Amino acid sequence: MRIGIIEDDRLLYQALEIALREAGYETVSAHTKKEALTRFDGKEDLLLIDIGLPDGDGIRLYQQICREGKALHGNSQKSTIPAIFLTARDEERDMLAAFDVGAEDYVVKPFSMRVLLKRIEVVLRRNSEGSILVCGDLELYPERKQVFLRGKEISLTAKEYRLLEYFMRNQGQVLTMDNLLQAVWGLDGEFVSENTVSVTIRRLRKKIEPDMSRPVYIRNVFGLGYRMGE
Ligand code: CA
Repeated sequence: MRIGIIEDDRLLYQALEIALREAGYETVSAHTKKEALTRFDGKEDLLLIDIGLPDGDGIRLYQQICREGKALHGNSQKSTIPAIFLTARDEERDMLAAFDVGAEDYVVKPFSMRVLLKRIEVVLRRNSEGSILVCGDLELYPERKQVFLRGKEISLTAKEYRLLEYFMRNQGQVLTMDNLLQAVWGLDGEFVSENTVSVTIRRLRKKIEPDMSRPVYIRNVFGLGYRMGE
């Protein structure tokens, strides 16, 4: 994990570099706004940003980094890097401004290194998990492509996974054969028979349903298709 530090106070950034490296992180440091914009490449997993920089304000800098990240990576990619702001003043105004630009957290100087490390850990974990899709005892982590049933990971083929993700994203809706063919098989859908869909659904059910004869996750909607959830 790489952490970008933007802090002009030399004693503080040195202490941060040491503490973070000891905790097993890679670090890249900048001491001004200008340095941050040239040194950071958008591959940092988290940024620590001092609000009061000699050549500008950390909040504006973060907005600029996010904008440039979007331009570089496109909107579909992870375009914003989570940030924790560091400020010298315990000012509500700074704090609100930081949260307005999407800050994950905020610490007031002087802060305890152990507390900061804990907050970093929490932010990194929160961001690596991304959104979780839940239905009953099923949990699906889209970014990791992992599925857990009652806390135990289950192994799915690529098609079963895509089918399940599509059902979980569209809970409560009736999905027709056509919907499933297009969403899961995409263009190939034209060359795939409806039987393939039924077979894949049956395989998926075997892995997730407690009772195959009375499915609780993927139900048949007679004459229309299938539905997950109520
Ligand atoms: Ca400063």
